[in-house]
Amino acid sequence: MESIKFVLDRDPHEREFHQAVSEVVESIQPVLDKNPQYRREAILERIVEPERVIVFRVPWVDDQGQVHVNRGFRIQMNSAIGPYKGGLRFHPSVNLSILKFLAFEQVFKNALTSLPMGGGKGGSDFDPKGKSDNEVMRFCQSFMAELFRHIGPDTDVPAGDIGVGAREIGYLFGMYKKLAREFTGVLTGKSLNWGGSLVRPEATGYGCTYFAAEMLATKGQSLEGKTCLVSGSGNVAQYTIEKLIELGAKPVSCSDSSGYVYDPAGFTREKLNFLMKLKNAMRGRVKLYVEQYPEATFVPADPALGYNPLWNHKADCAFPSATQNEINERDAKNLVGNGIQVVSEGANMPTTPDGVNIFLEHRILYGPGKAANAGGVSVSGLEMSQNSMRLNWPREEVDKRLKTIMKNIHKMCKETAEQYGAPGNYVTGANIAGFVKVVDSMIDQGVV
Ligand code: NDP
Repeated sequence: MESIKFVLDRDPHEREFHQAVSEVVESIQPVLDKNPQYRREAILERIVEPERVIVFRVPWVDDQGQVHVNRGFRIQMNSAIGPYKGGLRFHPSVNLSILKFLAFEQVFKNALTSLPMGGGKGGSDFDPKGKSDNEVMRFCQSFMAELFRHIGPDTDVPAGDIGVGAREIGYLFGMYKKLAREFTGVLTGKSLNWGGSLVRPEATGYGCTYFAAEMLATKGQSLEGKTCLVSGSGNVAQYTIEKLIELGAKPVSCSDSSGYVYDPAGFTREKLNFLMKLKNAMRGRVKLYVEQYPEATFVPADPALGYNPLWNHKADCAFPSATQNEINERDAKNLVGNGIQVVSEGANMPTTPDGVNIFLEHRILYGPGKAANAGGVSVSGLEMSQNSMRLNWPREEVDKRLKTIMKNIHKMCKETAEQYGAPGNYVTGANIAGFVKVVDSMIDQGVV
């Protein structure tokens, strides 16, 4: 077994990054054994080292005239198969370790989409929550005042992630355009009026649901009638719930960092509209949902419990769509104990390694984030294509392409897992398929 000691020694404090690297290294062992060239080329040492890390000061002024300073980052991880591509996250927890784990995962995810995109990620420890629109605008402008010199439509194309939605992309794009004196597809997730793609907002949630449907189809089943647990209440969660309703499933939960809502009757279109208004327009907390729909219950978050009761409800499918490490070993055991059949990850790395092992041991249909949530970056890739061609595809066209991409990712993961003696293990399939494509491209391009 390859050691990741060199990663631990070089960056001892990057816990999340170590977690992401060890999972990949474990999966790709048979590939390394079969291809001695990879060791000679020090491919592992090269792929874990970002091509470039940019860290910068982001000063901004609040509505009272007080100056604040946040830290901005962009990790340009790997450009072997295309320009760097990956979201920006604005959340107080953001640090180098979290962004490196996200950038590392992004490299493999983007390779799986079959679109020409390298991997990157960025963001800031800025918290948009509770800030006025003007404060968010001033922050975004200051952030872009530095970032703009490092990105471009053929260099690095950021998008949204936690805390970065349509509003933030708008402010970031406006500042980029002013500084670069160019109207180009330098960000994805843009609004429709100025270069965005139809279905981009929906893409991650829809794609994750399509991936779950593909996994279920291998057992001759569908999502129809299935009870589904969803966490989060942001972009990914909202459109996961929307697609589940459309496919006849019954989504029964959502959450934010304050706690979760459980609605045993299931979300309807009307309830989802309320949730969307609450989260997107009012920027409120999920707790307010139960005031509108008293048949639902709100359970406040309690980290001291050591497990999340959201994952202890009886359900057929789970769609973790909030953040990393939100399902631990105990949560995974609770899900399995309650008869879960499918886990399709909308969030990035939402399950801890011990939790993943529980799913694999019990042969759950488990779709890891880098495969199951690749729909978002796929439609970002389609947005880039449309920008280059200076045209917009209709909604049906984009959704059809998204569906085909998710189907192909599922097929690639499934077949690669079988080829390497791990049938049904989508973790092995996704890691190996993504890895081989990227490292073979790196070798073609020499030691750079
Ligand atoms: P949003 O900011 O729209 O929503 C995030 C949701 O997760 C909110 O409900 C938020 O609650 C909750 N959340 C965030 N951090 C925490 C935390 N530490 N503890 C508990 N809840 C938390 O982000 P997205 O929906 O875009 O992203 C969700 C996940 O999906 C992330 O892991 C992201 O990396 C991943 N992803 C997103 C893609 C996209 O296209 N947007 C593409 C692929 C993956 P609160 O409001 O209280 O903070």
